[in-house]
Amino acid sequence: MINLDLEIAQVGNPILRQQAQLVQDITDEKLQQLMDNLLSIARDANGVGIAAPQVSESYRLFVICSHPNPRYPDAPMMEPTIMINPRIVSHSDEIVKDWEGCLSVPGLRGLVPRYKMITVEYLDRYGKFQQQELRDFVARIFQHELDHLNGILFIDRVEKSEDLVEKKSLSVS
Ligand code: ZN
Repeated sequence: MINLDLEIAQVGNPILRQQAQLVQDITDEKLQQLMDNLLSIARDANGVGIAAPQVSESYRLFVICSHPNPRYPDAPMMEPTIMINPRIVSHSDEIVKDWEGCLSVPGLRGLVPRYKMITVEYLDRYGKFQQQELRDFVARIFQHELDHLNGILFIDRVEKSEDLVEKKSLSVS
């Protein structure tokens, strides 16, 4: 079991506010280890996604691993997916608000507006180009993780103070 307090950069750490750099060489051993590390932390933390800057590695890559879990009982099941140099190429006009939390912002939940549907492009861990349409919860995770690569936290997107609450005051989770 990884000690999450030591591993995960917490709000206030300047690395969470940086623009992460593009990944140039996917075969780099250090980057491959980073990907394995992100996968295992996401699993241990019961997270649905984690971005490289959260483990103090300022590269444009993250893991999305949506699955039903105590924090998100309605999450759809999907294989843990590594997304490298990810970007949004188009999005729905429709925006939906829903609750988010973050391993780097312990103890808080916020109602965050996100695009309902997005078309995304990224390289997978083998360097293969991928294009996908994501919707609802998975689209939300992608947008949350992409923000991490641009130095943005979900608390920055909460529109009013009532939309930010202590985790324990929510009946779900
Ligand atoms: Zn986060």
